Amino acid sequence: MKIFPQENTYYRLRNGKPYLIGSKCRYCDYVAFPRKVVCPACVTKGSMEEVELSQRGKIDTFSVLHIGAPGFAVPYIVAYVVLPEGPRIFSMVSGCEPSEKSLEIGAEVELIVDKLRDDEQDNEVMGYKFRPVGAESG
Ligand SMILES: [Zn+2]
Repeated sequence: MKIFPQENTYYRLRNGKPYLIGSKCRYCDYVAFPRKVVCPACVTKGSMEEVELSQRGKIDTFSVLHIGAPGFAVPYIVAYVVLPEGPRIFSMVSGCEPSEKSLEIGAEVELIVDKLRDDEQDNEVMGYKFRPVGAESG
């Protein structure tokens, strides 16, 4: 069975496409992901308002993991993806061979919802990931 524990906490769907849920400070315009109650930049309480973040970003850095956490099929790519609004998102990347040659710093990636891992009950745990723009599948 597929389960979606991150939906409505970290991402939502609009017309079947996911977007990450961030928050933006009313006073200093800082944008955070995940959502925050207190602004990490100006430390104003109650100034953060929910915002929809861009579905595309750029690879800031990445690594291919050959030893994974329990339930994760290796090898796989993890990356920091920078969104136009500013947040730097730690995420798995799929849709390409899990190799150092598959990605480049600065490559454009898009948000998808895909399988992250199997849990102890053999559920497929689904969550947000990025994939290279133009990749056919997750
Ligand atoms: Zn602020």
